[in-house]
Amino acid sequence: MSSITEGGITVEVKRKKIKNMYLRVYTEEKRVVLSCPYHLNSEHIQNFVRDRVSWIRKHLKKDISERKREDITYITGDQLQIWGKPVKLKVYETASPPQVVHGCDSAILMFVKKNSTSIKRKTIIEKWCRGQLREAIGLYISKWETILNVKVSEFGIKKMKTRWGTCNIRDKRIWLNLDLVKYNVMCLESVVVHEMVHLLERHHSARFYRLMDEYLPDWRERERPLRMGGIPSPD
Ligand SMILES: [Zn+2]
Repeated sequence: MSSITEGGITVEVKRKKIKNMYLRVYTEEKRVVLSCPYHLNSEHIQNFVRDRVSWIRKHLKKDISERKREDITYITGDQLQIWGKPVKLKVYETASPPQVVHGCDSAILMFVKKNSTSIKRKTIIEKWCRGQLREAIGLYISKWETILNVKVSEFGIKKMKTRWGTCNIRDKRIWLNLDLVKYNVMCLESVVVHEMVHLLERHHSARFYRLMDEYLPDWRERERPLRMGGIPSPD
């Protein structure tokens, strides 16, 4: 498989035994795939993509997570996004306290009381997501405290509309966006490192980005899905 770039967009080209060209945009993964017949030359393909650049852009920008969130009523069959992967929700009734289990068959099992409301179920899932995130953040902070030789006194998770993370330098306190649980854990690590690098350099200065490049050279790559998600960058 090869790829071409047009207007800053990388398109994967898959040659197949087909008659026409098909362009697919995977909004969630931010991938663009073109299926085309074997015999077509590259100029033809490039022109085809060039004519559709604005269409591709429009589809890449679509905030699918936003739309899905509205559709989710937290019933069996709903699809959630956990650590960058789609996960099916299965809801079971129980008389015991609510519980969430991440099964190995990429399903999330939720045990709730009979007749629980969707708001209640949402709260239960969010609480579970916070737990997942908390555990991962804790591990990353300890890892990077050693590497960067800094100390984080406290961290928290909250819903934020415009930022992936923030850092209070004076109190050495970090806040992270709850939505990070939807993305690959590599994204989370990058945001954690970003906030911790602020403990070495307050501003987004040249020095700040030099430090990022030095400690986490692929941070731009890691944060790309986050930028596409609508929120620009960690703060
Ligand atoms: Zn920042």
